[in-house]
Amino acid sequence: MKYNSFTLHNFKSIPQISKLTDEQIEAIEIVGRVLPFKCNNYVVDNLIDWDNIPNDPIYTLTFPRKEMLSETAYNTIKSLVDNDAPVAEIKEAVHEIRLKLNPNPADQDHNVPMLGEVKLKGIQHKYRETVLFFPSQGQTCHAYCSFCFRWPQFSGMSALKFQMKEADLLYQYLDEHKEVSDILFTGGDPMTMSAKILKAYIEPLLTERFSHIRTIRIGTKTLSYWPYRYTADADSQEILDLFKKVTDSGRCLAIQAHFNHPTELSTDIVKKAVKLIRATGAQIRTQSPLLKHINDKAEIWVNMWRKQVDMGMIPYYMFVARDTGSKAFFELPLEKCWEIFRDAYSSVSGVCRTVRGPSMSASPGKIQVLGVSEVRGEKVFVLRFIQGRKTSWVDVPFFAKFDSKVTWLDNLKPAFGEEKFFYEK
Ligand SMILES: *Cc1c(COP(=O)(O)O)cnc(C)c1O
Ligand code: SF4
Repeated sequence: MKYNSFTLHNFKSIPQISKLTDEQIEAIEIVGRVLPFKCNNYVVDNLIDWDNIPNDPIYTLTFPRKEMLSETAYNTIKSLVDNDAPVAEIKEAVHEIRLKLNPNPADQDHNVPMLGEVKLKGIQHKYRETVLFFPSQGQTCHAYCSFCFRWPQFSGMSALKFQMKEADLLYQYLDEHKEVSDILFTGGDPMTMSAKILKAYIEPLLTERFSHIRTIRIGTKTLSYWPYRYTADADSQEILDLFKKVTDSGRCLAIQAHFNHPTELSTDIVKKAVKLIRATGAQIRTQSPLLKHINDKAEIWVNMWRKQVDMGMIPYYMFVARDTGSKAFFELPLEKCWEIFRDAYSSVSGVCRTVRGPSMSASPGKIQVLGVSEVRGEKVFVLRFIQGRKTSWVDVPFFAKFDSKVTWLDNLKPAFGEEKFFYEK
């Protein structure tokens, strides 16, 4: 299957674009200058219902819409473009808007470790057991989701880009950190790399030197947006052989798959890809943020988790939309997130209840909203760390003042008139 990708520069060559109104096309051109986007022929031909624009969930996931920018920001760019402003001036305006969209949420710079005097720019080590590795060749994606904390790296705001080619530094770091059991290859999307490059990174980890590394994890959107990666690309078989090699070494290979909507699970080709991956002994664990306009109904999650389990996948995380990029368009109040989670979770059997959420990936850790309750006459959110910057924070329930509008941790206040949350003391 031939891969054609579409971005701001060539999206008008998509035949189905003729179904859009002039206004919708303009929105893609204006918003697309600030929030980069990308999709491909598989998504365009199989996942988007072009008779349901702009409401189609996969269209909304992949193409910019006017409401993804504030009115002021939209009008600023539009008038510059309409008046044929110099490229440099447009660039400057775009940059200013981007800086206001919180391009570095959750202080990711803080998690970059040192090896002696060397700052390891391609590694994040935040939670004791798991090291994230950003291989430089895998720093692109099949989609540039505007709600994802990775959008700045696709915009060329390079100071914020994490990546590292030097696998040797990763290996040396792991030699010194025997507490690490998991390596999570992330990006971008590491499955955009060739089998050959992936092999060069992974195979050394399967040796005696790294007997403490028990799980290799790979975060990827390929199953949703390019399942041919496992069935029809020139090196598909080599990828599957590599997966088998990992599981044959007695380690766990966990594919962390991004699925945002049940439509992504519906094609024959994704079903085939999942089967082939599972036949290597690898696990597939699934995750998605909860997004208004995309999956903000419990039935959608129920349907998605059940389908995933039918296909042999393991529901893993439901995230709260992060405080970055187009969050204002996609966000839901925490109370609503919890209601959707609870409605969905209580409608499925235990095999789907491996999922945890709704969880905020914030600076101190992954914080789950356990629910809304009343303690000593005060309405509160009950929260807990699923992962914490300090291990001792994990799984300790704590309380925040209830607020029906709050959408992110930053705007939560401790309950019972306390000044700080326990982890801030
Ligand atoms: C989510 C995340 C991980 C992995 O956490 P798990 O709960 O083990 O899946 C590791 N590091 C960072 C920085 C993360 O955000
Ligand atoms: S990592 Fe996933 S959510 Fe982020 S841009 Fe890539 S495909 Fe989208």
